[in-house]
Amino acid sequence: MNVKETDARYVAGTYKRFPVELVRGQGSLVYDENGREYIDLGTGIAVNSFGIGDPEWKKAVEAQLDRIQHTCNLYYSEPCAKLAELLCERTGMKKVFFGNSGAEANEGAIKAARKYAAEKKGPEYFTIITLKNSFHGRTLTTLAATGQDYFHGLYRPLTPGFAHAEPNDLEGLKKLASETKAAGIFIECVQGEGGVIALDSDFVRGAAEFAAENDIVFMVDEVQTGNGRTGKLYSYMNFGIEPDVVTTAKGLAGGLPIGAVLLGEKLENVFGPGDHGSTFGGNPVSCAGAISVISRIDDDLLAGVAKKSSMIFSALSGAEGVESVSGMGLMIGIKTVKPASEVVAACIEKGVLCLTAKDKVRLLPALNIPDELLEKALGIIKEVCAA
Ligand SMILES: *Cc1c(COP(=O)(O)O)cnc(C)c1O
Repeated sequence: MNVKETDARYVAGTYKRFPVELVRGQGSLVYDENGREYIDLGTGIAVNSFGIGDPEWKKAVEAQLDRIQHTCNLYYSEPCAKLAELLCERTGMKKVFFGNSGAEANEGAIKAARKYAAEKKGPEYFTIITLKNSFHGRTLTTLAATGQDYFHGLYRPLTPGFAHAEPNDLEGLKKLASETKAAGIFIECVQGEGGVIALDSDFVRGAAEFAAENDIVFMVDEVQTGNGRTGKLYSYMNFGIEPDVVTTAKGLAGGLPIGAVLLGEKLENVFGPGDHGSTFGGNPVSCAGAISVISRIDDDLLAGVAKKSSMIFSALSGAEGVESVSGMGLMIGIKTVKPASEVVAACIEKGVLCLTAKDKVRLLPALNIPDELLEKALGIIKEVCAA
């Protein structure tokens, strides 16, 4: 059996895979089992922040691998402590809890908000308000947080204590939060899986203000939007707010599993010994990768993200077969006249890897994708959309 047949026979069928096996790559170029080259505009869903096998990242990861690959959280470990310090310095947050994925980070945030509210206001303050059309993960609790029925399937009953407000309806959000005795409000500033849609900044700011006035924990899910993706280190920084809790994962360690919950002043000491944990959380190899990634997301790099973003918007806005372009930075949604899945399939045929998000074609290229490669890939996308 070849890899595709073995996979179909033995791997649980949770994914509808594109008909490509990826075997190696360098930067924003990846190669399949036949040596065919593709320009990668998906980065493993916003994970490979600096593309494949970035030399600086690889050096940091390999150096840590030569020292120790895992310690567990019963011992001190330098990469974990250093990464937490770096994240706090760069965001003004106060403490970090490490896990291994976006869903795990979001679970941690939800637990933090519930514990804070239970101690401060009483155990009836447990509801977390999220938004319709949101995506927060696949565990039963993060599915409950996710405001799209499509994902809920036959998995009910989901974890109770979640209510979904309409995006950009501030009065509706306030009403729901008051009625439900909300412990927290949890949003993506740019809804990713929901179709790459940035929230209105008045709504985001209004929600943050309302939360602060009412001592409701204000949390931002930066699993997809974080780590330079939207042109700032974290997407909330585009909105002029200071959340109480920030979660991140995907691109943080540049291709290694990691998740992080950043706790601001209000929740700095919410967790004590035994309150939460994760065996792999703070893994030294992942943390070494993340230190390398975060250290490189500086003003120059972010200026590059902004420039590449405008290249995309100007190439595709108004192009034939393109209805609209949405998103921020290098997190882009394209509404095409043809079904998104057809566009993605045709792009693969022509050597470009893109993704979808609901009815959109989604682009999540490496933060340092060379301009020439991006140009070339945009040319192919335009050709496919116009055909
Ligand atoms: C991908 C994603 C998650 C889930 O992350 P996993 O690592 O797959 O658990 C949660 N929230 C958002 C916004 C995401 O994009």
